[in-house]
Amino acid sequence: MVGARCAGSPTAMLLARAGYRVLLLDRAEFPSDTLSTHLIHQPGVAALARWGLLDRLRATGCPPIDHAVYEVADIRLEGCSRGVEGQRAAYAPRRYVLDTILLEGAIAAGVTFRSRCSVNRLLRDETGRVVGVAGTHEGQPFAERARLVIGADGMRSAVARLVGAPYTRREPSLTCAYYAYYADVPAVFECYEKPEGWVGAEPTNDGATLVQAYFPLTAFSTVRTNAHHFFDEQIRTTAPSLHERIRGRQPLERLRGTGDQQNFFRQASGPGWVLVGDAGHHKDSITARGITDAFHQAESLVRLVGDGLADPDRLDAALEAFGGERDASLTGGFEATLSVARLQTHEQRLALLRAVRRDPELTTTYFDLVAGIGSAASLYTPRLLALM
Ligand SMILES: Cc1cc2nc3c(=O)[nH]c(=O)nc-3n(C[C@H](O)[C@H](O)[C@H](O)COP(=O)(O)OP(=O)(O)OC[C@H]3O[C@@H](n4cnc5c(N)ncnc54)[C@H](O)[C@@H]3O)c2cc1C
Repeated sequence: MVGARCAGSPTAMLLARAGYRVLLLDRAEFPSDTLSTHLIHQPGVAALARWGLLDRLRATGCPPIDHAVYEVADIRLEGCSRGVEGQRAAYAPRRYVLDTILLEGAIAAGVTFRSRCSVNRLLRDETGRVVGVAGTHEGQPFAERARLVIGADGMRSAVARLVGAPYTRREPSLTCAYYAYYADVPAVFECYEKPEGWVGAEPTNDGATLVQAYFPLTAFSTVRTNAHHFFDEQIRTTAPSLHERIRGRQPLERLRGTGDQQNFFRQASGPGWVLVGDAGHHKDSITARGITDAFHQAESLVRLVGDGLADPDRLDAALEAFGGERDASLTGGFEATLSVARLQTHEQRLALLRAVRRDPELTTTYFDLVAGIGSAASLYTPRLLALM
């Protein structure tokens, strides 16, 4: 298993719990941060609960987020998702907190973990089947054989590159994103939208509040020349009420940002290898789905592999089924994400939101959709059509 964050550690943990011997490698050291904000919607929280890790997260003092505000044009929605499996709250733990809990969960399940271990080559048998990995561990060369090599090594996956996994769908990148942390800025889960602008806020660990601003990718070359200024301006013009709360405050840490948020699906598997998490499927972070989607992929892969890992034919069939399940379950969220990331506010959507605002049940259903629960069809009830 290459990569030990949101996709790698849960996959390793679940495989170990299923009785397999798992070697988990990451070039990073832990605990460590990574370039990512960190809202976990309710379905992801439910996965943590199923795995017995939610109490560990709660024990870090990360606040539950059970109140949401969404503002666009003259519309303000306020409420919360119904949640799933009894989990009504989202959480936004710092990645150095979350990823450590996931990794410790894997190690507790019996996984062997090596940090500072960089994979740069695959081992293959005479048929071309992938049968292991090689690279450097603390600067020394190493090679390890395995029945299955799992690339959980992120958007720029080395495993995907080494197996030559083709893109099965690729869309243009749409946004660039910047984020910072503030002390003493009370916030719930907040989203603000305007044409060419999107701003979000969530409370996180240590009493801090995460504030994010998104811009069209076409603005990146300008924004990066004076990111602090444009970040502040985007918040002032898109989320004035949030700007009031941060005005005059210095961020706790440096402003972070990226203009590289790709939108793709890659072929998920081949003989002896499979990709999970961002390695196989990546999308703009604006809808905050990546962590939850990685959790679901981990569960899906381990369920489909079942007790078939030792039989190459059964294994390859399970890996192919995993790819099909991944595409079927994540394509809807991919489309929804692309639609938000275009940063356009169409009058038709505003009309829908004005109708949603007039009904608390519909508002709750809307926040379910934001959390990735249910399908858009669940919003189009006779009640909505009557209000429109
Ligand atoms: C700006 C931004 C904001 C985001 N906000 C959210 C959010 O609010 N909510 C959400 O759900 N998602 C969010 N995401 C998406 C989320 O970060 C990813 O979907 C998630 O991290 C995917 O986890 P992963 O384990 O697949 O990959 P990663 O987290 O990228 O982990 C990959 C790991 O692989 C290791 N690795 C890579 N190459 C090698 C190699 N050759 N050898 C050994 N190890 C290797 C790396 O060191 C790393 O630890 C955001 C992303 C960005 C960029």
